[in-house]
Amino acid sequence: MFKWLLVIAVVVLGYVWWRHQRQLAAHERTAERAAESARQNGAGPGAAQPDTMVRCRHCGVHLPAADAVRGGLGPYCSDEHRRLAEG
Ligand SMILES: [Zn+2]
Repeated sequence: MFKWLLVIAVVVLGYVWWRHQRQLAAHERTAERAAESARQNGAGPGAAQPDTMVRCRHCGVHLPAADAVRGGLGPYCSDEHRRLAEG
């Protein structure tokens, strides 16, 4: 009798583990798809996102990446500061 309980327990545990692995795999696929579509939209990792804050390399002020001026060395709050920092 105990042997059967053990077999059932192993089967149930195996089923739970299998389901967990499937959910992990599905989750990874979803994340990959999201990253892929983000790349296709030109918003890959490191690209400007609306709520990403960057710091001006010249004066240190924080501003949204979308409003920042991109310089050769990094983001700036204004074209003037980019010029002052990079010449
Ligand atoms: Zn600045």
